Amino acid sequence: MQYEPVIGLEVHAQLRTRSKVFCGCSTRFGAPPNSQTCPVCLGLPGSLPVVNGHAVEMAVRAGLALDCRINRRSLLARKNYFYPDLPKGYQISQYEEPLAVDGRVRLVTMDRGTPGNRGTLRELSVGIIRVHLEEDAGKSIHAARQDTQVNLNRCGVPLMEIVTRPDLRSGREARNFLDYLRRVLLYLALCDGNMEEGSLRCDANVSVRPLGKTSLGTKTEIKNLNSFRFLNKALDYEIRRQIRVLESGRQVVQETRLWKEDLEETRPMRSKEEAHDYRYFPDPDLLPVVISADRLDQLRNDLPELPGERARRFGSQYGLDQSDAFVATRTPEFADYFEASAKSAGSPKTVLNWMVGDVTHRLKRDGLGLRESPVEAADLGALIRLLDDGAISGKMAKGVFDRMYETGKSPGTIVREQNLSQISDRSELETVVSGILDSHADAVERYRNGKRGLLGFFVGQVMRQTRGQANPKMVNELLRKMLDR
Ligand code: ADP
Ligand code: ZN
Ligand code: MG
Repeated sequence: MQYEPVIGLEVHAQLRTRSKVFCGCSTRFGAPPNSQTCPVCLGLPGSLPVVNGHAVEMAVRAGLALDCRINRRSLLARKNYFYPDLPKGYQISQYEEPLAVDGRVRLVTMDRGTPGNRGTLRELSVGIIRVHLEEDAGKSIHAARQDTQVNLNRCGVPLMEIVTRPDLRSGREARNFLDYLRRVLLYLALCDGNMEEGSLRCDANVSVRPLGKTSLGTKTEIKNLNSFRFLNKALDYEIRRQIRVLESGRQVVQETRLWKEDLEETRPMRSKEEAHDYRYFPDPDLLPVVISADRLDQLRNDLPELPGERARRFGSQYGLDQSDAFVATRTPEFADYFEASAKSAGSPKTVLNWMVGDVTHRLKRDGLGLRESPVEAADLGALIRLLDDGAISGKMAKGVFDRMYETGKSPGTIVREQNLSQISDRSELETVVSGILDSHADAVERYRNGKRGLLGFFVGQVMRQTRGQANPKMVNELLRKMLDR
């Protein structure tokens, strides 16, 4: 029997507001434990929450970008449960009437390539059930042989939850979707997208069904996947596990599971609770969230160019193919740098190759982001222009790039200072080449008798004599011409 996996994601994104969602406490990461708390986020009796308008508007912008219908009036509800990191005994979230519903994301994704093949592009359309606003809980710290400690700094940090329809069909698709969604959030500047620090987290719901069947099978939910790789691996594992269960004549149990990276498997965590277990009800301390029609229009008009649109534009404006455009738009900073550099270079594809190669490697080695790059985009463009014009060789360009990176100087200055310019003067090179051929009459003889491999030897000699400054393409041409006559 053939089975079809069915996957829906619940994604939590931490919104980049300066203060928390229902009080004025700072959201800064890494402050001393419990230093960023107040009666509201500690849940002390008598304190009253007030919703942060910025957080609301951020979630609305996300809803618009995901093509949702925005509820201009939405409700904040209490989701009741007990946990030490939740001092109020409930989380403020949205249940009925969330901020945004019924959206759709269309994306172009790249399947995994094999070595030497970058993979194929596919269009994917994923429905969005809802986007809602909620607050984060604190963090329990369980250290060995110590009492459990609780840090409530994160309590009340604004979160946005995005729930997809069960439209994904493999671990790879889920991963590609999350990658795209992350890009959208980065372009909207709503979330820093840092999965390691937990600013972007994902729960994956998955079931399998016999191929061709339309009703859904029993699902499990894998909690708290904090990397693309884990999401992909956990789903692949869970799909195989569920198929094994069904094949052996048993039933999949609806439950919450955890991905155990060390064991490379999912393990049951708890049986799945139902919505009614949480006793949701509208929070009596908070008014409904209302957005005026004018403000909504304004937010819609102010949306930036999104990664999908930008990739399409890169295709037509810079002649990039779809997979290159996909790479070039991976973050807004990367796309900005690419554009600024491509404008001065004139050869967009070469710019992208340099960015993915030398630029990324150097920055990664030094733990820097593109914004902190010592080499400015326009200077990279100028370097590539020198290269394309034949003023310097590819090898020289690498050296110049290293100097640019170390000194922040422009490529023109470095080429002048180091007297690097490439020898592309035909008659000058002709003199060198014929001199070399004269002094290696033997080798010339052997070459003409069929030992074509000697061409490299002659090239080497010319390069040596010109201290690497000869234009290699021209040297090859001249050598061929003079040897083959
Ligand atoms: P629950 O009530 O268990 O929270 P929801 O209907 O709210 O379930 O859906 C939560 C997530 O699970 C959504 O992303 C949805 O697409 C996904 N989902 C729902 N049913 C299934 C299923 N049978 N198989 C896979 N995913 C599912
Ligand atoms: Zn507070
Ligand atoms: Mg649900």
